Amino acid sequence: MRPTERFFDQVNSSFDKAAVLTEHPVGLLDQIKQCNSVYHVTFPLERDDGTIEVLHAWRALHSSHKLPAKGGIRFAPTVSEDEVMALAALMTYKCAIVDVPFGGAKGGVQFDRTGYSLEEIERITRRFTFELINKNFIGPGVDVPAPDYGTGPQEMAWIVDTFMTMVPEELHGAGCVTGKPLAQGGVRGRLEATGRGVFFGIRETLRDPDALAALGLEPGIDGKRVVIQGLGNVGYFTAKFLAEAGARIIAIAERDGAITNDAGLDIEGVREHLTETGGVRGFPGATGTLETSAEALELECDVLVPAALEGVITSDNVERIRAPIIAEAANGPLSAKASDALHERGVLCLPDLFLNAGGVTASYFEWLKNLAHVRFGRMEKRYQESSHRRLLDAVTQATGHRFPDAVVAEIAAGADEEDLVNSGLEETMIGAYHTISETARSLGTDLRSAAFKTAIDKVAVVYTERGIFP
Ligand code: NAD
Repeated sequence: MRPTERFFDQVNSSFDKAAVLTEHPVGLLDQIKQCNSVYHVTFPLERDDGTIEVLHAWRALHSSHKLPAKGGIRFAPTVSEDEVMALAALMTYKCAIVDVPFGGAKGGVQFDRTGYSLEEIERITRRFTFELINKNFIGPGVDVPAPDYGTGPQEMAWIVDTFMTMVPEELHGAGCVTGKPLAQGGVRGRLEATGRGVFFGIRETLRDPDALAALGLEPGIDGKRVVIQGLGNVGYFTAKFLAEAGARIIAIAERDGAITNDAGLDIEGVREHLTETGGVRGFPGATGTLETSAEALELECDVLVPAALEGVITSDNVERIRAPIIAEAANGPLSAKASDALHERGVLCLPDLFLNAGGVTASYFEWLKNLAHVRFGRMEKRYQESSHRRLLDAVTQATGHRFPDAVVAEIAAGADEEDLVNSGLEETMIGAYHTISETARSLGTDLRSAAFKTAIDKVAVVYTERGIFP
């Protein structure tokens, strides 16, 4: 299901709703809202059978109030100019909310990767990178892509290799893209960061007595019934972390329909089945099957997590949604009208521009690592360990109490890169949740408007302090 309204208009309609809560001049608000530039390129692909096909690709730079700009590259047949502009705008606001000092960008190539060989996908990725280099739409200080729908670490590795081959003099070349494999300058924890961030956001909501009282839900994740749409990068890690914390994943929807089990589905098992068969149907641990992915959105549950594509909840199906909490793991899964209707009904929507910001937060850490040319924790891990041990020894000497070896090992351990990335992510997501929920409460508005207002204020400050708008 696709929204009938343009996606960029949907984002701007949320922006306008929040803009009236601010006191910024109209011209400044307009500058923040516009998409600064869009690059549309077509290029030929030689298919494996020797035929030539022309592909369309875009990169949108929504805001350069801070540079580099940041945003994923997606490979999907639905990619369009409107889509990349909307997603680039969301990136601007997302980065502002989580205090990641980047402007917003997004890109994509319009094709369905399931119909192409790996070699063809490599040629597409490298050619698109080449086109971006040509027009200065990529670089560690200019614009830094990342994975998104239909792309992952492999595509990021091809991008960095192409960039470093074409621009060998760039000292910080590894920082031209994030979400890379470790050996290419990636950071530990990035792969699962978006899903982990979604998990932190949901966990914080389920700890918030004010939010839960209004929904009539008991605090805590344990036993909460969750429906996940899309078991890709974001959906899989969200489901995994929620299940590990005690939630029951009662339904998983994929392209071929959905499977259910009220006792909870085994996430690893479903993921394996999906990899082997290309779908979720037929998974032996399921007790029920739904014909379409859309039907799963209408199931009774505590938390609904759309983690696939945008525009899946619109005026067409909003009346049938029964979840009290909707966690927007994907970008733009709710149309602006559907979001308003759900808020009217008292449904709590955790907006995408906050909830899936974990990916860009870890990307920021990866970019910092690439600029510093040193792994996080390399300088301090052993130092921390020995100072913790000295402290424990001092306690033992003073009290005569000897700690068991396992306890010493646990307390003394210094933080490694993954610990630091996950800790930075947790701090960011918890802080952002409280900022937007307090704003929402004080203004009597929904979380989406509160998130947009927070973002608008932060971007506005950058422009006004520079003196562009005296
Ligand atoms: P992905 O390609 O890894 O996974 C998407 C999954 O959705 C796939 O398993 C696909 O088969 C499934 N899918 C496709 N159509 C479906 C349908 N109609 N019903 C159910 N499932 C369907 O992509 P991803 O990286 O997980 O991205 C998912 C969403 O999260 C996108 O909106 C993306 O913009 C957003 N997002 C991703 C990241 C990231 O770090 N990857 C960060 C922020 C936001």
